[in-house]
Amino acid sequence: MIDCHTHLESPEYNPDRDAVIESCRSAGLKAIVTCCANPKDWELTKEIVAKHRGFVFASASVHPQYVKELPEADINNFMDVIRKNSGSIVAVGETGLDFNYIKEPDWREKQAELFRKFIALSNELDRPLVIHARDAYEEVVEILEQEGAKRVMLHMFGANQLVKRVIDNGWSVSMNAIVMKSKKHTKVTRDMPLNRLMLETDAPWLRPDGKGRNDPRSIRQVAERIAEIKKLKSDEVWDACAKNAINFFKLPIRLSTHPFRTLQTGPP
Ligand SMILES: [Zn+2]
Repeated sequence: MIDCHTHLESPEYNPDRDAVIESCRSAGLKAIVTCCANPKDWELTKEIVAKHRGFVFASASVHPQYVKELPEADINNFMDVIRKNSGSIVAVGETGLDFNYIKEPDWREKQAELFRKFIALSNELDRPLVIHARDAYEEVVEILEQEGAKRVMLHMFGANQLVKRVIDNGWSVSMNAIVMKSKKHTKVTRDMPLNRLMLETDAPWLRPDGKGRNDPRSIRQVAERIAEIKKLKSDEVWDACAKNAINFFKLPIRLSTHPFRTLQTGPP
């Protein structure tokens, strides 16, 4: 079981981060992809990955919601940092568009510009893309198609009307506890083939019961809910989603032939 999108650098984990990560390992998780969405979080992200090598992997980019507050020079510098550290990252993201957060047309234009730059960076570094789309599903799909993006994971994707395009483009979707309440996300989960689905928590947010801090251990409930939607057994869902994640991020982890046997970690 692999959590494909979470934020372990979040200050909510400052008091007990290592203990949380170890409890995830004990709970049977095989890997966590933590998402560094702001340049200020990079050093800590790097530290976490180094400390938990072979278990925690990083993706990095600038979240579209920070487009206004980060000077262009800082973003360009961060792109250089990502280039220099590309050996430590398994994906570029989350990048994309957030029209809920940014309303002004000029700033939305800027978000799109930034998004295209990070798509180019993912090509340059040969890393897949982790996409954030909020109130801008159509626009995000449009830009990804224009840029010819191939290795794409749409995090928390909720636009059922676009699922056919997502499938035809060869992209994947990662789902979290939002599928417990949202009809739109339930429909996307129903219609996406199992070989294009991945599991995530987006922790520390989106705890399934809505109470307090989330952590990657709740991935189990997400898998159970997806199994219910797709009328499958939960072990089928998490075995398939883990395989999808290993292939998508090229994680150095090998799944044993039986889903319940422990996975082996390969060389870092
Ligand atoms: Zn996120």
